[in-house]
Amino acid sequence: VKQAKLAGAPQVYEPKQATEARRRFSIETELRRALDKDQLKLFYQPLINLKSGEVAGFEALARWDHEDRGEISPTEFIPVAEESGLILHLGRWAMDKAAQTLASWDQEAGEALPLYVGVNLSAIQVARDDVAGVVRSALKSSGLSGNRLTLELTESSIVQDPARATRVFDALKALDTTVAMDDFGTGYSSLAYLQRLPIDVLKIDRSFVSGMMVDPDSVAIVRAVLSLAEALGMSTTAEGIETVELATTLATLGCASGQGYYFARPLEAQAAYEYWKSRRR
Ligand code: C2E
Ligand code: MG
Ligand code: MG
Ligand code: MG
Repeated sequence: VKQAKLAGAPQVYEPKQATEARRRFSIETELRRALDKDQLKLFYQPLINLKSGEVAGFEALARWDHEDRGEISPTEFIPVAEESGLILHLGRWAMDKAAQTLASWDQEAGEALPLYVGVNLSAIQVARDDVAGVVRSALKSSGLSGNRLTLELTESSIVQDPARATRVFDALKALDTTVAMDDFGTGYSSLAYLQRLPIDVLKIDRSFVSGMMVDPDSVAIVRAVLSLAEALGMSTTAEGIETVELATTLATLGCASGQGYYFARPLEAQAAYEYWKSRRR
């Protein structure tokens, strides 16, 4: 210690890996505390019917405004939550919160609104939690009917244990919820599962959508996904629509709905509800 203070003494740098491991560890500790103190928020990004321009529903997205570190992206804290098992807690919280929020809008409007809320389910939840039980309890305490919820699952929830995934997907359908395959095209699942599992919606990953303006291959992939979905009787949603050109192109190609910064960023609950009202016909 004394030596390190001497001028010209070699400075000891912490290897980058160690710094990252340390941040990860503190994120885990702090996320556990934030969940206990109810410090996470759910934001809501509108999903637009590309034909009519109306809001079809919202995707619920977790937000964490850390008291010292500022905004921490879900792309950072969700993987930590998954590795630590905290995702089971976070997932239940998000499900309950999203259902409550939609139910509170219904209450404010005095009717069951023609809107759904999409909730992301981690593959870890599918593997380790009673996902259908979590959904059932959120429906029960909010009073919503199943068709007001869309569950966004990824291909990774299928590949590890297809038999278990099949039971989970079937149980979700038995609750009358909508099942969407999130980030479609980026995972490793076999197309056979599309046929076998009760999937209602394909969400085309943002990487293909944003590629459309510059890369003819991306256009070809999006077209192929749209015609695959149509042939299998599924609906489609495009992620990451950032320009009017993308919105019109996707509408012309027959994509049913979309979300993206061109329409709106994820919004706080009240702002999301106002957004819906402002675009209502
Ligand atoms: P995702 O489920 O694919 O969600 C869509 C992501 O794309 C969101 O990122 C959204 O903000 C972003 N996005 C939407 N439109 C645009 C656009 O036009 N441009 C760009 N650049 N981005 C756009 P976000 O909120 O950072 O979430 C990232 C991922 O974290 C989500 O990807 C999802 O996998 C995960 N996540 C977020 N909240 C939850 C949650 O409550 N539970 C679980 N299990 N995962 C969550
Ligand atoms: Mg999603
Ligand atoms: Mg997605
Ligand atoms: Mg995505």
